[in-house]
Amino acid sequence: MSRRLPVRSSPSSTSDPVNRCHICGSSNVDKLPQDGTPFRLVSSDVQPVDGAAEYLFCGNCSAVQKAVTPQWQAMANRIYANYDINHQSLGAEPMVFDTAKGSGPRSLILLRNFLDKVDLPETGRLLDFGCSNGNLLKSFHGLRPAWRLSGQELFDTWRDTVLALPGVEAFYSGAEPSYDGTFDVISLSHVLEHLQDPAAFLKRIACRLSDRGRILIASPNLRQNPIDLVNADHCTHFEEHSLSYVIDKAGLSTELLSSRLLPKELVAIVAPRRGQEGRSVQPTDSADAKERCLFYFRLLEEVRKAGRAAAAEKRPFGIMGSSIAACWMNLELAGAVDFFVDEDPDRVGHQLTGLPILPPAEVPPGSLVFIPMSVPVAEKIMARCRELPIDFRFVASNRPV
Ligand SMILES: [Zn+2]
Repeated sequence: MSRRLPVRSSPSSTSDPVNRCHICGSSNVDKLPQDGTPFRLVSSDVQPVDGAAEYLFCGNCSAVQKAVTPQWQAMANRIYANYDINHQSLGAEPMVFDTAKGSGPRSLILLRNFLDKVDLPETGRLLDFGCSNGNLLKSFHGLRPAWRLSGQELFDTWRDTVLALPGVEAFYSGAEPSYDGTFDVISLSHVLEHLQDPAAFLKRIACRLSDRGRILIASPNLRQNPIDLVNADHCTHFEEHSLSYVIDKAGLSTELLSSRLLPKELVAIVAPRRGQEGRSVQPTDSADAKERCLFYFRLLEEVRKAGRAAAAEKRPFGIMGSSIAACWMNLELAGAVDFFVDEDPDRVGHQLTGLPILPPAEVPPGSLVFIPMSVPVAEKIMARCRELPIDFRFVASNRPV
């Protein structure tokens, strides 16, 4: 969405380009070795993707990232040109359950948390950058019906859909469109992890804030969500320290940064910094982030092996879920999967990669279902399905650290 990363040749070899951190620009970047066959990749809108990732760790800002090469950029552009958000549920967004702000559509829970921390007036203007089909705009309108809302997307795919939503006054397309006026809130829900230079982008978009404006950020948290590593178009895998560094580098001040408001996500509220101009930005030290990522590689390898063993055990064979982890597992087990299983009523009855998504109650008796999720999630699923004749498998060491 922004400039390409400059790639230069190393002094010792013209065929071995020096990798630079796309967060801080440092050349103190190491390749993170992933043993075994390269992991298959899945797009953020849950479609199979050809190609493999090169993983890097920055010794300066401790960010885990994918190498942003011309090939990676071309792959991301192909994904965005055909983006089909939440296609497994015909556009309905995923639900989250049992948070401190209740259960409901993800964007609604995100916004309830935001309104809990920020005293928003009854009128104002909001821009949802990366609005897709407008789920966050719909949720926001329900909470502040008098606000004037705008959406932005790379392409015009959802222009008419978004403009038809109540409260919406404008739709902008393109990576950096020319906006009309300023905004009191700019939401960046699942945006920064896609960008080659998130700090520079944040700094530019913050110029569109009104005097007392805020930016609301939500991004996947690698620490709670190792499967994010196989998300093809996510080039940064944020943890608290790396997101904090990016916000600081953009010259913004963090009012809140939490990993506890939404499952597996980081949520931040930021505002223009006042009275601290010129302060130097120091990367946050997080020496254990590299080891944690290498552990996650081993964990995904274990899940892949266990999935293959389970698929070889007996048929019919299904995979629990219909999001990134399930789609990834199906790719890794090419041809061995008969169906997906999901408890989300918006998803059952639809398909993922041509296979049916069944509710647990409709899984053929005696089937084996592999759960590619963490142990706590697997245990909850099995407890809810304990009356059903399903043989479950999961990986006992699958516990993010
Ligand atoms: Zn860095």
